[in-house]
Amino acid sequence: MTDGEERLAQPRDAFALLGHDLRLEILLALLSHWEAVETEPQRYSELMRAVGMEDSGKFNYHLDRLRGVYLRKTDDGYVPTASATALYRAVLAHRPTETPARTQLDPGIDCPNCGAALVGVYEREFFSLRCDPCDSVVGEFTYPLPKNSLAERTDREVLEAVYDRAREHIGLARRGQCPDCGGTTTRDVEVSAITETESPVRIDCDTCTWTVRTGFLLPFLTDARVLAALDGVGVAVEDCSPWELPEPTAMVTGADPVQVDLVVTAGEGEVTITIDNDLSVQETRTDCRASEQST
Ligand SMILES: [Zn+2]
Ligand SMILES: [Zn+2]
Repeated sequence: MTDGEERLAQPRDAFALLGHDLRLEILLALLSHWEAVETEPQRYSELMRAVGMEDSGKFNYHLDRLRGVYLRKTDDGYVPTASATALYRAVLAHRPTETPARTQLDPGIDCPNCGAALVGVYEREFFSLRCDPCDSVVGEFTYPLPKNSLAERTDREVLEAVYDRAREHIGLARRGQCPDCGGTTTRDVEVSAITETESPVRIDCDTCTWTVRTGFLLPFLTDARVLAALDGVGVAVEDCSPWELPEPTAMVTGADPVQVDLVVTAGEGEVTITIDNDLSVQETRTDCRASEQST
């Protein structure tokens, strides 16, 4: 088997199990009672009744096939596994049978370059912020967003939701955990690309397909030291929108090991965030103009 075939072997077996009416009914009967850790196990007889089976031989056979993958037997009966509930959640989040009601959104913000109204584009379950006159993706921002995120939200709220989501996800990935699968991540700063691209930071999951290329500030907006330092110079991250945040200037201060200073200049001073190649924050330094003037 090639690497690709081997990687698909387990999902193939798991998906194939669902291609049978009775197994699907057993799974749906379990999921209909699913309330996370509060789930009451369903007894063998209840489950058999729920799917309308009378032939216990046939029922046992299919119940057994699902065991380990989609259901687990406890002392009090059967419960769905995390794989079963994750699949169920994925279907709810991504609504695979519905096309999105909106593909063009008007978030009500202007392009920082030309002042034209930006357009939110929702395509293939990715959200991007585009400026038509500039013919570019603003802030290089494209991030996956489940279709369910568009329900019950205004265009502006969708934009806020996708940024919040990206910030939490990328913060987690920067600290070494994939936001999708919980696996480890590989983090990298493309030093040679710092001046050429707005997205020199790259984070990849070592297990699943989660990946991100991003600029320098977003990955650090969940770090308490960075938030406190920014707050100290008048940038209240929690109260302002990400597109209002100042762009940091990156300066490579070490090559082996890689060390980069990110300098954020704001109204009340300057914050320097020192990071390494693993995207760990080594230190933050604050230089307050206001206090300099008063001394
Ligand atoms: Zn523009
Ligand atoms: Zn992953």
